[in-house]
Amino acid sequence: MIIMFNLDEETKKFLGLFEPKTFAHGICHMIGSFANVGVIETRDGLVVFDISTKQFGKRVFKLIREITDKPIKYLIYSHGHFDHCFGYAPFLNEIKQKGFEMPQIIAHEKLLDRFKKYKMLDDYHNWINSMQFASVAGNQERATDSSETLNPTIIIKDKQDYMFNLGGYNFELYHDKGETDDSIWMYFPEKQVIFAGDLMISSFPNIGNPYKVQRYPKQWALAMEKMLKKDAKYLVPGHGPLIEGKNKVKNALTITAEAMNFVHDKVIEKLNEGKWFEQIYHEMLEIYPKKFQDHDYLRPVYGCYEFGIHAVYRLYHGWYNTGNPTDLFPSKSSDIANEFLKINDPYHYYEHSKNIFEKGDTQLALHMIDILIKASTKIELNLLLDAYNLKYKLLKKRAKEQTSFIAFNIINNGAKEIKEIIKNYKNKGLKN
Ligand SMILES: [Zn+2]
Repeated sequence: MIIMFNLDEETKKFLGLFEPKTFAHGICHMIGSFANVGVIETRDGLVVFDISTKQFGKRVFKLIREITDKPIKYLIYSHGHFDHCFGYAPFLNEIKQKGFEMPQIIAHEKLLDRFKKYKMLDDYHNWINSMQFASVAGNQERATDSSETLNPTIIIKDKQDYMFNLGGYNFELYHDKGETDDSIWMYFPEKQVIFAGDLMISSFPNIGNPYKVQRYPKQWALAMEKMLKKDAKYLVPGHGPLIEGKNKVKNALTITAEAMNFVHDKVIEKLNEGKWFEQIYHEMLEIYPKKFQDHDYLRPVYGCYEFGIHAVYRLYHGWYNTGNPTDLFPSKSSDIANEFLKINDPYHYYEHSKNIFEKGDTQLALHMIDILIKASTKIELNLLLDAYNLKYKLLKKRAKEQTSFIAFNIINNGAKEIKEIIKNYKNKGLKN
């Protein structure tokens, strides 16, 4: 079971820890369970859009069965991420017990490549997901299990739409790239509902995720523009509360499209001006429009603007990021740090870092204290412990400043690691 630590209200909302919501004259339901599950009732059975994580499967099953006992006829995967298509086990049990027919399972063709990739990189993904979700997933069983996939029976090819009918209602499926290359979103015209998957997540889009593969900012904006044409009354996001009312739906889609176009087009402009990453990044921070910063649908709860800058740069650029030939075949950072220590007394770096911290620049203080940490083998133990303690404090402060819980977890995990290192050094010291 997923253990929830002291999460603020915004994060709880984002994680779907709210009551199921019935809307559109009782025909549609949204089950918040980490990721949202969309359910449409027809006289011939259910259309279910996403099925949450393996750990949340039981909760999804229980909540759907409190609403209706109709069998699932279609299950659609918005994309292949672990929080959208791994909670199916209780439904398979029910199918066996009650003798229901297996539902049709619809996904984009790239989802199969994704599942193959998960199998190849199973341990790596488990490791990065345990870091990315550290504050919401305690000592749980593996969050992802790539060996247990429920594979699609209907595959949507690239650049194809797919329409079907169940119980007298039409359903429209569209493929667009955004958070992933296998994204599908669904439109239910009868009640004017969009099921967006993670193309809409009640946060600044998860674009430029520090741990994950490339995402697609421009196509993301195009997906929003396609959704806008539907003039929908409701939008079920991949995470977060239901968006209700034509104006709200329009507003959420428009501002997300504008933000994606902005971050994309401005980075392109700066690349064409011959700028390197550092300059582009800091200039982009200065020009981030106020209307995005404060917007309800762009709060940096999960993804954030800073990550988005990386996403665009990385989409069009190789790994040589600085334009400084020194960095093409770099020395070890520990060797560089050792050379710094030959010029200046190690204690001065410690004092200097502390001073910068006291003046309020935590980030700059971190760069300074890293000279001691990287040269750890050359530093006397007491000073080294002071340096680690200072870095721990700096990271804790920096983590607290973050609104994106991905950023919080990365920095907070770093602080936890340092705590371990301090503990080990102290134990070693005592033994000596
Ligand atoms: Zn998701």
